[in-house]
Amino acid sequence: MADDQLHIFFFPLMAHGHIIPTLDMAKLFVSHGAKATIITTPLNLPIFVQSSEKIKHLGLEIYVKAIRFPAVEAGLPEGCERMDQLTSDDLVPKFFKATTMLQQQLELLLHECQPNALVADMFFPWATESAAKFDIPRLVFHGMGFFALCALENLRHYKPQKNVCSDTEPFVVPNLPHKVKLTRMKLAPYDREETEMTKFIEQVKGSEFTSFGVIVNSFYELEPDYADYYRKVLGKRSWHVGPFLLCNRKNEEKIHKSDDKHHECLQWLDTKKQNSVIYVCFGSMSNFTDSQIEEIALGLEASEQEFIWVIRKGKIPEGFEERTKEKGFIIRGWAPQTLILDHEAIGAFLTHCGWNSTLEGVSAGVPMVTWPIFAEQFLNEQLITKVLQIGVAVGAEEWSIVVDNVKSEAITKAVKCVMAGEESMEMRRRAEEVKKMANKAVEEGGSSYSDLNALFQELRTINLHN
Ligand code: UDP
Repeated sequence: MADDQLHIFFFPLMAHGHIIPTLDMAKLFVSHGAKATIITTPLNLPIFVQSSEKIKHLGLEIYVKAIRFPAVEAGLPEGCERMDQLTSDDLVPKFFKATTMLQQQLELLLHECQPNALVADMFFPWATESAAKFDIPRLVFHGMGFFALCALENLRHYKPQKNVCSDTEPFVVPNLPHKVKLTRMKLAPYDREETEMTKFIEQVKGSEFTSFGVIVNSFYELEPDYADYYRKVLGKRSWHVGPFLLCNRKNEEKIHKSDDKHHECLQWLDTKKQNSVIYVCFGSMSNFTDSQIEEIALGLEASEQEFIWVIRKGKIPEGFEERTKEKGFIIRGWAPQTLILDHEAIGAFLTHCGWNSTLEGVSAGVPMVTWPIFAEQFLNEQLITKVLQIGVAVGAEEWSIVVDNVKSEAITKAVKCVMAGEESMEMRRRAEEVKKMANKAVEEGGSSYSDLNALFQELRTINLHN
């Protein structure tokens, strides 16, 4: 290891939406000369090991270390180590309780390996204290963009949701560069009223305040008003170094040639015209009732558009697959999402607005139909539809872990609008523009490339003084 080589520890939350970008972030750091070690739990280990194996032949290496996840001690079923395995809402606090029990094991590894910095997920507020014990900087990774970070900060500070009479009465989040309108229905239960989780979020905020800064998977040109607001008005030290997935694109291309590329759906897409297919996927954690799945099926069929629809679980209405076999391709389970989005036959993306999916849509230059479900997705929807104007909302009104609130007619209308409506050409043009900006940001000299260099420089300087 060269004298000035930085060794960074990455400690992601055990959920696909945090694991995937952390892997990409680690690859990015390694390709810029750092050494990266990812800390995870035994069940999640193979995801990291496999990914690390794939880049070895490029001369890049990611080290992975496992710590035991105390599922049973926290009241979770044995073997439950990732958030998509949680079968009911009441297991969520137990999952977070289990994560608080990881501190000692992490500190043992910090002691053993002596890294130069710790990039830990926002959901591990105690990690700031752990890093301080070893005199190294702790960086926070939220897995969100600047727009959502700013809106959540002001929402939690000014609490405009307390001044409305009902859950459906709109209010504006104060002091943001744009008018961001919400209702209480679109907020997480812990932002509507005080719960155990509200206290936890306060701890997260506190740990952020005392941390070295925040790494954001975004690029300046995507949300310049909010990158500035976050830094200058809210006073947060932060570095935007994304989209991580694009930073690694060159390496990934070499890898995909040999595996996922042969997925049947990509061959199916090869037979389709440019911009003719809508890709429908709701991330790694969504749950739909059977009646909601039926509404999606009816809505897609009535739109008369070709589609790829990813279904994690649930029952597809009888006869649907047979009736739509010429027009549709159904994937049960895990889809090669980034490869699908990049295919030229994809004309739009019906998304739940998870931040990774949002960035993947942006990076592929496709307009979107937005159907937010939970987390900060209702904010990402506003960035897509109101600020960037590269998508239309399906009309989801309620933050909910189990989805059952959108009618087929609304789905048909939004899908038709984004695929073939009057505004679709203009939206597509804007989406293409944003894609170009994303690619530029990660090139040498681009905004994300430069910010990563600036971060490395700061970390090296601290290291020299320690
Ligand atoms: N993803 C995928 N295939 C699937 C479902 C999800 O590759 O079938 C990936 C997707 O590309 C994204 C991540 O899983 O990188 C989901 O993260 P996001 O933030 O969009 O949503 P979450 O799953 O956290 O709700």
